[in-house]
Amino acid sequence: MTVPATSRPQAIVGFHRDDEDHWVAQLACGHNQHVRHDPPLVRRDWTQTAAGRAAMIGFQLECKKCVEGAPADERPSVPPESTGPASPDG
Ligand SMILES: [Zn+2]
Repeated sequence: MTVPATSRPQAIVGFHRDDEDHWVAQLACGHNQHVRHDPPLVRRDWTQTAAGRAAMIGFQLECKKCVEGAPADERPSVPPESTGPASPDG
């Protein structure tokens, strides 16, 4: 009998952007998880503002990589984003 994979909720501890400018959440377990904003299929408006992302720190996402026992992901060092006024492009 196979044991069904259990969910492994992990808190978001930070964010960075990948090469294609998609936002990636950094989870407490050491894994990364994309949080794409790709309307109308996927809407994550909160990724589009620094305030929105900050509000999601500590929010738990289910981490499939933990269930699979995957090794920890690399985390590029990204300087903290300016908290100034939102830029008009986008
Ligand atoms: Zn994980």
